[in-house]
Amino acid sequence: MTRAGAGAWTEPGAFPIAPGIHRLPLPLRDDGLKGVNVYAIEDGDGVALIDGGWAIPEAFDVLAASLNSIGYRPADITRTFVTHAHIDHYTLAVWLRTEYGTPVAVGRGERDSLTWIAGHGPRHRLQAAQLIEAGAPHLAEFMSRDDAAADPVAECWELPDVWLGEGEVKVGQRTLRVLETPGHTQGHIVLYLGEEELMFTGDQILPHITPSIGFEAVPQQQPLVSFLDSLGRVRQLPDARLLPAHGPADGRVHARIDELVEHHRRRLEQTRSAAARLTSSTAAEVAEQLPWTRHERAFAELDPFNQTLAVTETRAHLAFLVHQGELAASADDVVLYAVP
Ligand SMILES: [Zn+2]
Repeated sequence: MTRAGAGAWTEPGAFPIAPGIHRLPLPLRDDGLKGVNVYAIEDGDGVALIDGGWAIPEAFDVLAASLNSIGYRPADITRTFVTHAHIDHYTLAVWLRTEYGTPVAVGRGERDSLTWIAGHGPRHRLQAAQLIEAGAPHLAEFMSRDDAAADPVAECWELPDVWLGEGEVKVGQRTLRVLETPGHTQGHIVLYLGEEELMFTGDQILPHITPSIGFEAVPQQQPLVSFLDSLGRVRQLPDARLLPAHGPADGRVHARIDELVEHHRRRLEQTRSAAARLTSSTAAEVAEQLPWTRHERAFAELDPFNQTLAVTETRAHLAFLVHQGELAASADDVVLYAVP
C-alpha cells in the first residue's frame, strides 16, 4: 500500500492519538500528497470522523479495515466533519452519507464553491478566468480540458447537511472548538481540543509542505491575506499537537505556524523583487522568475497542474503586495503589476 519513499505516516491502520482518538491514513489516487489522515473520535456508541477522504474504493476499504481493527464498522460513523471542500477530504464523506446516511458538516465559507460544483457546471470555469487574468491562457485551457473529462466522483459533489461556523460541537464527552480559518480555501475550518492540547488542522497547517493558497472552484480575491490572518488567530491560542490532514502527527502548531509565516515573508520578498525587475508584468511572468518546490525547480520543469498552482500562488502574493500598497495592479483583462 505504501509507495517507496512515501514516508511511514501513510501506512494503513488505526494509530492512537489520545484515549478514543485515532489517526486513520487513507490512500489517494495519482496525487503528490500520497495519503490523507482521517481522524476517528469516539462518539457515544460510534465514532465521528474528521475529514472523509477521497471517494475511491481503495480508500473505503482501508477505512473499513482500520475501523474494524478498533471495533467499529463504517455504519458506526455518526457524522463527518470535513475541514474543507477539496476532493481528497470531502468526497468520501458524501459517499458514506449515500451508503449509511452519515451526516456531513463543512465550514459555511465553502458554500460558494460547493454550490458551484454541485450545480455540475464546468468545474474550473472561474479558475480558468482567473488564469487568463494572470496571463496564463494555456493553463486556463488545460483546466478547461479537465472539465470536459468525466468526473469519476461527480455524484459525490453534493451539499452538506450542516454548514459550520465558529463555535463548539459536542463529540462524545468532548467539546471541540470550531475555528474558521480561510486561506487554503474560503471555508476551511480547524478543530481544537484545548484541554488535551490537540488541534486538527486540515490543510491549513501541514508539517512538510506549504499549503496551496486559494485553489478552489470560486476563487477569492485575497486568499493570502486571509491565510496569514487565520494563522495569526490560531497562533494566539495555547500551543497544541499538530494533527494534519497530510503528513505525520508529531509536530507542534506554534513552531509550524512560525515556519509558514517565515516562508511567506521570504516569498513576498522574492515576488516583490521579481515584479520590480520586470517593471510591468503578469502573474504568470512573475511565477516564471521564481524557484518552485523545496527543490527550487524552474517553473518550466513543473507539470501543467503544478504550473497552475504556481501561477495561482504567485497571483495571491502579488494581490497581497497590492493590498499593502507595495505594488499597483492595472485594471486590464490581463492584469499587470508594477511598482507604483
Ligand atoms: Zn488535502
